[in-house]
Amino acid sequence: MGVTRWRRLSQAVSAALFILPPLVRTGGRSLVLLDLPRLRFFLAGRVLGIEDLYLLWFAAGGFLFAFLLAATVLGRAWCGWACPQTWFLNAGDLIRKKTRGTATSAAVRHLLFILMAAACGFVFTAWFIDARTLAARIMRLAPGPWPGGTITAVTVIAWLDLVLIKRVFCRDFCPYGRIQAALSLPATLLVGIPAAEMARCIDCRSCIKSCPMGIDIRDGLQIACINCGECIDACRTVMGRRGGEGLVAYRFGNESARDALLNPRVLIAALFLTVCLTALFWQAGHPPGADLAVRRLAGIRPRVTAKGEVSHFFDARIRNRGKRSGEFHLTVTGPGVRLAGNTKTGTLPPGGNTTLRFVLVTGRKTGGKARITLADEDGRELAAVRVTVPETASQP
Ligand code: SF4
Ligand code: SF4
Repeated sequence: MGVTRWRRLSQAVSAALFILPPLVRTGGRSLVLLDLPRLRFFLAGRVLGIEDLYLLWFAAGGFLFAFLLAATVLGRAWCGWACPQTWFLNAGDLIRKKTRGTATSAAVRHLLFILMAAACGFVFTAWFIDARTLAARIMRLAPGPWPGGTITAVTVIAWLDLVLIKRVFCRDFCPYGRIQAALSLPATLLVGIPAAEMARCIDCRSCIKSCPMGIDIRDGLQIACINCGECIDACRTVMGRRGGEGLVAYRFGNESARDALLNPRVLIAALFLTVCLTALFWQAGHPPGADLAVRRLAGIRPRVTAKGEVSHFFDARIRNRGKRSGEFHLTVTGPGVRLAGNTKTGTLPPGGNTTLRFVLVTGRKTGGKARITLADEDGRELAAVRVTVPETASQP
């Protein structure tokens, strides 16, 4: 299997990761949905809310260290092997190749480009608005201003990318290439021809013709090279016909791969990447079953009842963080305290929330702290908060 086939496989995985998460459904929802208006994030049936935003720190840290690691060890391999811009343009190249010739095929080509661009606009927007809802709105010709505007803008940009911008963006504008060049080490992976091999070159120019960036790799390392390896396969094919080996190959710079991988910068980045990803997946995989926030009702002072007890008025905001619908109830522990009023929720769907108004009843002489707990139908404690109960002596 040549380099190009492995690269196609890698690009297919990258494309699937971009296209499928908002379209595949689980538990009646998209696999991934960033519901920005409601500040909620749906992930594989789970609902993450604003209080889970700390997970973004781990995700951002993981992204940063993965970026450092990839740029230092693999050079611009991200560009050639996984970047959406590259596989999108490769798909455009394939359409160009298959629709060469007549005016009819040119019309088909442009139609396909428009469809590709529109699909790109739809998938991008579906990361933020449920795909089914979005599709239904489009079918009614009423997508709404923001979804409609986003789809239109992304469609136009994607179409311009296919017909006009193409690889000029990779070569002249994408910051990754510049940052990667600054991060590269003498042992970073690159595509090239060792000086000793140049004598075998038969000047067939296959490597240049196959290069999507129009590079002559025989001139040495160039910043525009996206490490795609097309030239490796082209040269290997030509030289193979002559019974020889290709001249162009992936190499870890001037040093061995072991030297590249054991570099301190790489090891530190790998360590931090591992820490960030472990923390992210552990925290995301072990969320609390529900959230509980308790606050004293403003403006309502404690009241002494006919029995001589004291009622303190609170409300509890409860949110179901689990994957299934469920009912929840409040309990209390503390010396001489009990709950009254509304202490049970109805059925809450995943991500659903409600507010219960309840009364914390204490004896006339009781003060100090009480512990309010939230439990599910099976009596499992999911969350707890402590509230301070004033000494009754200070009450009216
Ligand atoms: S020189 Fe080779 S690896 Fe670099 S962009 Fe061109 S074909 Fe890809
Ligand atoms: S494909 Fe190989 S042999 Fe042909 S010009 Fe390029 S490096 Fe030389």
